[in-house]
Amino acid sequence: MTENLSGKLVIISGPSGVGKSTIARRICEMFKNAHLSISATTRAKSNKEIDGEDYYFISKEQFEERIEKELFLEHAEVFGNMYGTPKDKVDQALEQGQIVILEIDVQGGRQVKEIYPDAIMIFIVPPTPKDLANRMNNRGRGEDEKAAKERLETASQEIAAAWRYYDNMVINDDLEQAV
Ligand code: 5GP
Repeated sequence: MTENLSGKLVIISGPSGVGKSTIARRICEMFKNAHLSISATTRAKSNKEIDGEDYYFISKEQFEERIEKELFLEHAEVFGNMYGTPKDKVDQALEQGQIVILEIDVQGGRQVKEIYPDAIMIFIVPPTPKDLANRMNNRGRGEDEKAAKERLETASQEIAAAWRYYDNMVINDDLEQAV
């Protein structure tokens, strides 16, 4: 299986709080030649996050400069912040025959699929809508109610879009099984 996936891009998307980071990290541990792409974002870093590990936290000006220099494979605005996949690291890993895992939103997934039509598209869904709402409330980022509501609404829209654009839907009911 690893051999078939060598030099392939795997896009993992899903609503926030659905557990896609955990799944992506676990997959990376399973395959020695897997490379998990680290995105750049203009979002504020939470206390739990580490710059250069979870994301590259950069300013809007830095982000715009990178767009202009065409340093992103894809980029999108999500919840009022910019997110982008650095192109150089992805290219390098693919050239080395690694499995490149991108944990990005549906807008980004669609952009990447245009460039790499054989990318594997995986969308993670929660077992129930209620479960999704609970998971979002437990994220502990200190968001206000309005932001939490927006995340939930975006999640519903993303799930609807995913049925059109993603080849694989995975229900994260049991983590081991989802992985
Ligand atoms: P969060 O702020 O919760 O870490 O991420 C918010 C959303 O942005 C998630 O759906 C996540 O998958 C998405 N995201 C993270 N990095 C990127 C990226 O580089 N590009 C795009 N298009 N979306 C991203």
